[in-house]
Amino acid sequence: MTSAPRIEIAEHAGVCYGVERALAMAADAATSAPAPVHTLGPLIHNPLVVDELEQAGVGLADTLDDAASGSVIIRAHGVIPQVIEQARDRGLTVIDATCPYVKRVHHAAERLVADGYQLIVVGESGHPEVEGIMGHADDRACVVSAPCDLDAIEIEKRVGVVVQTTQTQEALADIVSALLARADEVRVINTICSATQERQKAASELASRADVMIVVGGKNSGNTRRLAQICTERCAATHHIEDASEIEATWFAGAELIGITAGASTPSAHIERAVNAICDLTGAVHAR
Ligand code: SF4
Repeated sequence: MTSAPRIEIAEHAGVCYGVERALAMAADAATSAPAPVHTLGPLIHNPLVVDELEQAGVGLADTLDDAASGSVIIRAHGVIPQVIEQARDRGLTVIDATCPYVKRVHHAAERLVADGYQLIVVGESGHPEVEGIMGHADDRACVVSAPCDLDAIEIEKRVGVVVQTTQTQEALADIVSALLARADEVRVINTICSATQERQKAASELASRADVMIVVGGKNSGNTRRLAQICTERCAATHHIEDASEIEATWFAGAELIGITAGASTPSAHIERAVNAICDLTGAVHAR
């Protein structure tokens, strides 16, 4: 008789400090801030959480024009400073849930620009966090996601570097080493957030032992997608799900160890639902 598979959750998985803080601020705003309360853009990259907030009375405004009165919540990714100014000018109450670690990137970018460095932002062009960082820089700043992106840029003698919080150390190291070959001075302020690294390291470790890996989180969440990519490289049977209802029993045939991880925008209740669904479908045991 084959024994039931075991479920193990990665040592670091799920909601991070900044997201937890933003969710708590939104929950608080739903009952105490001037109504109507809107988040400016989805509070986090997780459609299920956005729906849950809507039910709690926190709506979604794509732009400031969609929030004519009441309060707006700035998400953990942050925004360009002009957005906060405009919201205040329009008489809206601003609840700034920008993660303090993202604020640290803003301050680092401002400092490097003020000190005369040409700013390079290592990150994903067009990502809201990166847009916010660029809003704290000047018009010489450039976004770079790989060393080849530097080919199109006229590099100055003194270059300052900051990093989107969810980037990897490897991506940063590759770009810095390419810059060192072209600039006289490269000043790096490493603004990668440890929550991301911890989740990636723990996911990698678990995926290298597991027969099947389940990655829980928004399909539009960059950090969750990166976890899924890391897991797939170590465990071919990796499935990225947003909701427990997507889980299929056939995924686990013959599996002894089922690993679970989740992005920094995935609340613990969503992980719990995935664990329960796997237990129901397979008779798996969750060793806590
Ligand atoms: S991943 Fe890090 S920087 Fe991003 S919201 Fe979470 S704690 Fe803040």
